Order: sequence, then C-alpha cells, then structure tokens
Amino acid sequence: MAYATINPYSGETLATFPDATDAEVAAALDDAHAAFLSWRETSFAQRGRILQSAADLLRRDCDAYARLLTLEMGKLFAEARAEVELSAKIFEYYVRHAEALLQPEKLPVLDPAEGDAVLLHEPLGVLLAIEPWNFPYYQIARILAPQLSAGNTLLLKHASNVPQCAAAFERLMQEAGLPHGAFRNLYATRAQVNAIIADPRVHGVALTGSEAAGALIAAEAGKALKKSTMELGGADAFVVLADADLRKTIDWAVFGRHWNGGQVCVSSKRMIVVDSIYDRFLDGYRQGVAKLVAGDPFDQKTTLAPLSSQKAADDIKQQIRDAVAHGAKAEEVGPRVPNRGAFVQPTILTDLGPDNPARYWEFFGPVSMLFRAKDEEDAIRIANDSPFGLGGSVFTADTRHGAAVARRISTGMVFVNHPTKVEADLPFGGIRRSGYGRELLGLGLKEFVNHKLVDVVDIDARF
Ligand code: NAP
Repeated sequence: MAYATINPYSGETLATFPDATDAEVAAALDDAHAAFLSWRETSFAQRGRILQSAADLLRRDCDAYARLLTLEMGKLFAEARAEVELSAKIFEYYVRHAEALLQPEKLPVLDPAEGDAVLLHEPLGVLLAIEPWNFPYYQIARILAPQLSAGNTLLLKHASNVPQCAAAFERLMQEAGLPHGAFRNLYATRAQVNAIIADPRVHGVALTGSEAAGALIAAEAGKALKKSTMELGGADAFVVLADADLRKTIDWAVFGRHWNGGQVCVSSKRMIVVDSIYDRFLDGYRQGVAKLVAGDPFDQKTTLAPLSSQKAADDIKQQIRDAVAHGAKAEEVGPRVPNRGAFVQPTILTDLGPDNPARYWEFFGPVSMLFRAKDEEDAIRIANDSPFGLGGSVFTADTRHGAAVARRISTGMVFVNHPTKVEADLPFGGIRRSGYGRELLGLGLKEFVNHKLVDVVDIDARF
C-alpha cells in the first residue's frame, strides 16, 4: 500500500509518503482515546466554535484546498471548489443542529409505574473512518463533523492516492483549534487498520468505498464486535418516462453520468428509457455526451476530467471489453480524448441482454448503460433489478406521479427530475450491496452513539 500523489493528468509522481510505523499508530490510538476523555465533556458551543472555524478556514483558503483535489485525483477545478464549499456547509449543519438533535428524549411510557424514562445519546469513543479518493474532503467531512459533534474522536485511513488531501484536512482541524489527538490521519497499512479495529478503545468503523473493501472491513468489525457503517458502490437508475421534458432530461443525464469524471457512487449509471422516447433520448444523449470537452482539469473549458489513476482507466476499459464479450454493443462517443492522462473515451453500452452479467456491474467512469423499457412498469422492474440500492432518479412532467414511481424504486435515495442532490442537509446511504447505515443529518450523528436509557423508578417492590 504505497501512499503517493500521482497527477492523473500528467502521470507524474509528485510525492510519496511512507506507511505509518506501528509506534505512530499506537501513539495515535493513545492520543485519540485521551482526547476523547476530555472532548466528550466539552459543550456543544465549544464544539460548534471549532467546527465553524473549520468551515471558515475552508472558505478562506478554498482555492488552495481545491488545487490539491485536482492535483491528486484529477477533479475539475470548479468541481473541486464546490466540494470545498460543500464540506464547509456540512460543518455548519452540525454547528447549527447538533445540540438539538442530541437532546435527551423523554420516553412516552405506557404506565407511569415504569418511571421517568429518558433516552440519552452519549458518545462512544474513538472511531475509525476509511474513505475513498473520489470526494477526498467531502467524505471526511461527512463523518468527521457529526462524530466530533457527538463527542467522539476519529482516526482516518484515507485512500492511498490522496495523501496530501488527507494531511491537509488534519492540518485544517488543528488550525481550527481541535484538541490534539481528536482527529488524526494515518498512512495506515492493512494490518494496522485491522489492529485499530480490534483495539478495545475503538468503538466503530465507518467505511466508504467498494463492495470488496466493505466486505473485508465489515468482517473485521464483526470479529471484534464493533459497530460499522458501509457506504458502498451503486449503479443508479435514471428512469425516463414518456412525458419527460427531453431537453432538460438529456442535459441532466449527461451531467449525472459525467460529473467527477463519472466516478461518483450516485452517478446515473443506468439510463432506463421507455420505448416510446428511447430513440429520441439516445440521439440527444449521444449528441450531449459528444459535446463534453476532455482535457486539463485545471482548464476552465474542460468539462470531462481524467479518471483518478491510470489503473482506474485501464480497469474500466477492460470492463467495457468484457461487457462486449458478453454481447453488449459499445459505442464510443465524441472527439478523441487526449492521449496523455488517465482518460477513457465516453462510451454508451446498449443491448445488455438479460444474460449479460455486465448489466449488474458498476462502471466507475464515463460509461453509460442504456436500457429500453417496454413501459413504465418495465422501467421500474429494470431499475430494481440490481444488486445495488444506493440512489436513482425519475424524469417526468408529472412530478406527483414521479414521486409515486420514486417510492417503488428500492434504494436509499430517489430524486424526481434531478440525477442526484448531494447536499449538507440531505441524508446519504443505501441498501443491499450499497451498504448499510446513513451519513449526515441526525441519522449519521446517531450511528455511533450510545442510546442510553436512564429510568427513574420510585415504587415499592412487589413479590
Ligand atoms: P476502495 O478500493 O474500496 O477504497 C476505499 C478505501 O478503502 C480506501 O481508503 C482504501 O485504501 C481502503 N481499503 C480498501 N481495501 C482495504 C482493506 N482491505 N483494508 C483496509 N482498507 C482498505 O474503493 P475505491 O475503488 O477507491 O472507491 C470507489 C468505490 O467507492 C466505488 O464502488 C464507489 O461507488 C464507492 N463509493 C461509495 C460512496 C457512498 O457513499 N456510498 C461514496 C463514494 C464512493 P487504499 O487506497 O489504500 O486501497
């Protein structure tokens, strides 16, 4: 596991970082636990001041933070700036709402003899976050802001290709005034990750990443009887009904599939279009994708970023070949992408028959699967025929009807007339092989707290 900054546009290795030593990991655990013992006693006001300061610093130094994102994983600079702002908003969400969300709850007991029962939400201790490279700051903020607000402390194992982003976030929190040890980035090895999970002072692990990593880490957490949350992959359906406004829908489809270089867990990976408008949609979509401009992610004119690494690009090209070997038709779209950089030519896959295993895969890049549905019922069936259950969307002129269709799509998040809203004040998470648990809002805040009952009962014992 080599931690390194390799610019995906130039292919240059810009910096490498040694793995953490076991002594560093041990010290980080000691510090995180010691920090927890005092952090859990701090007031919401004090926690809020630090979180607000982190948000302010992100905004003050937005370009510097954004630059690192573009450099390390190739995100378009404008999208990088938006990610910095989104991370700041997540901090602010908890500055505003954590105290109210964690208020003790008086329980409405059926019989007064049961006593005055109150549910408290107490922090658990040190947690481990394992995060992916596709939204290096947002992913940290999504777990760090709620867990610090709840009174927990956090160790981070970030993806090996974004070591500078991870270090920048650690420095950010120091500058914001977070006590020593309360948040620490570690260039941890697999063995060290397992040792951290097994440590009795660690009370949970949150992973965002692939199914493979999720299954391994959930197993480690299970062995140690620790709580885990898993935010894994997805193959979101983009359902287009017959009455959809085609121009708007196609624009959103092109965006939904290609922002962040197509490397979003909630990208619109499967376009499911009812028969009556399928051909017109495909025509328009093809034209829309062809207008994307692949190039230097720092260049404002670029609208299609390279993938995060050459390996990611090679893997997805292999997936396309495999899908074709199983009977799919692959159509490359638009002008040739640059020779340099980890680019993949935007590709539309059609004719993915019922026996083609590729229809169940996640393509983490600019590859669109298109499905022709007989009608609305068939579109819903195809949408739900997936091992994943993360997000999805429905496009229609009748938004009421769209909301009814959304209820029938079996995922954690469905949007009507938008590919996916990723916001600080909306929850995030999925079902089935997309994982379990939720991040953000009160749901995320309460994933790693002890819901403790205190019941004051004052009656005579009866035998
Ligand atoms: P990945 O390979 O699973 O990596 C994610 C993180 O897990 C990285 O920090 C990685 O570290 C670490 N990791 C992997 N195997 C590990 C192991 N055995 N022990 C300890 N740590 C391990 O995921 P990816 O391919 O980079 O990311 C893309 C995937 O994440 C996609 O499937 C995407 O859909 C999903 N994702 C989901 C969400 C969500 O919220 N549901 C959000 C974003 C991305 P190394 O880099 O050192 O391997």
